[in-house]
Amino acid sequence: MDISSSKCHNHLQREAVAVCLKCGRFYCRECVTEHNDQVICSSCLMVKDEPIFKKFKLRKPFIYSLLFCIGIFSAWIFFFYIGDMLLSLPSDFHDGTIWERVVK
Ligand SMILES: [Zn+2]
Ligand SMILES: [Zn+2]
Repeated sequence: MDISSSKCHNHLQREAVAVCLKCGRFYCRECVTEHNDQVICSSCLMVKDEPIFKKFKLRKPFIYSLLFCIGIFSAWIFFFYIGDMLLSLPSDFHDGTIWERVVK
């Protein structure tokens, strides 16, 4: 197939000016990008980036367990301070008279 008579794979009305080195399809200027001195289309560029996402997915359980630990820890801190606050409350809080003192 001759490139001069071919149309862009994404834009059927546009003349193709480049061939993707990965998939071998014809594309217009807009649809191709240079990646490590190689002309490839945007969809092949996405495929190229996929291992990064796969790596990220593999690390997700680790991230979740880390978040779980942080959650447990922050809950412990939270209840620790709640308990500490309850202990330090003035005794007249329970009588209901503390509000009178605050207002006055
Ligand atoms: Zn391609
Ligand atoms: Zn195009």
